Amino acid sequence: MPRGAAFFAGMNKAQLRACIRLRLKEREFDEVFQDDLISDLIAEKHYYCSVHDLRPSQFRMVYRPGGGYDFYGLFNASRWHKVSWSQCLDPRDQNDWIQSALRLASAPFLSARRLAFPICERCGVLPSTEVDHVSPEFQSIARQATQLMTTSEFRNAFRGFDWWSDQPFTLPLDNSALAYTLQAHQSATLQAVCKDCHLQNATDRKMLRGGSA
Ligand SMILES: [Zn+2]
Repeated sequence: MPRGAAFFAGMNKAQLRACIRLRLKEREFDEVFQDDLISDLIAEKHYYCSVHDLRPSQFRMVYRPGGGYDFYGLFNASRWHKVSWSQCLDPRDQNDWIQSALRLASAPFLSARRLAFPICERCGVLPSTEVDHVSPEFQSIARQATQLMTTSEFRNAFRGFDWWSDQPFTLPLDNSALAYTLQAHQSATLQAVCKDCHLQNATDRKMLRGGSA
């Protein structure tokens, strides 16, 4: 969609964001209120609610210590659940879910490395508490993996997702991003490190990149 095109209710994303912020400005924390525009937006555009025919009927904002607020919607059976109206506008968060599922799937490779190298492989002194993706970096594996996902895989991933559950989000076993991530970890260079050496590795990589640019 070209930037600035109508996204919802005749508004582009920037207009819609400004409009909702203005409406919420009039609300107090913990006030329960109705807002048909936001209800419709979530029903049509929210990555989970849209495929599950969920339309919250009321809302409230709860103060979040440290700034901002958590946004709750009232669903059927008087169930309050956190629901983000801004995620309807910015689908980046869907990729965040996928990335966290890929991270979770790669965890066994990391624990195996730590088990094999209980002492930091870089300094050889401190216990290894974490594992560094030396090459390729996790972000690059995750980026490539996510690019392999088809539209229907995206849909399926979130169709099977129990939004109400406290369990972490995972991808189906036949998902191509998951398959790519698992395969990439077979040959990835990992290093079991202490916290300081992990930071040091990251700094070294940044300097290398800067130097070659
Ligand atoms: Zn170390």
